[in-house]
Amino acid sequence: MGAFIGHEISHEFDDQGKSFDAEGTMMNWWMPEDQRKFDAAALTVVRQYDAYTVLDSVHVNGRLTLGENIADIAGVAAAYDAMRLALKQHGPPESIDGLLPDQRFFLAWASVWRSKMQDDALLNMVKTNTHSPPQFRVVGPLSNMKEFFAAFNVKPGDPMRRPDSLIAKIW
Ligand SMILES: [Zn+2]
Repeated sequence: MGAFIGHEISHEFDDQGKSFDAEGTMMNWWMPEDQRKFDAAALTVVRQYDAYTVLDSVHVNGRLTLGENIADIAGVAAAYDAMRLALKQHGPPESIDGLLPDQRFFLAWASVWRSKMQDDALLNMVKTNTHSPPQFRVVGPLSNMKEFFAAFNVKPGDPMRRPDSLIAKIW
């Protein structure tokens, strides 16, 4: 739930939210330097999602889905930080079903996106929807988090382990 809240908050100051000021007036309120840094980081996200494919060879459109992908990456990261702060304050809970809090955090996010779609619906989604297909709403954010690698001992060379230099961090 925290990741969804973080996702929505991120939209307030992403590639679309930057176009409206605090009063809701259409106006770009970003400094040129911030814009330049955002564009560079966003390009990493575009390339990551462009590389994802469904139905063997149909690529996700990294530009079309950029704002939503950034919101997913930011939302999961913010929720994770919030969880760590809460655990620091209240102490770590016991493992449940043999899973540590960090593992349960990432599994919870993955569970939310379990889905099954007809090929036509999936194709339509990739061509028209600003949200990435469900599986990439999991793989995308988590493959940008070193905390995820640590939680499940994801090693260099494993499918979800990005090299450090290709990790996207927007906020
Ligand atoms: Zn969104």
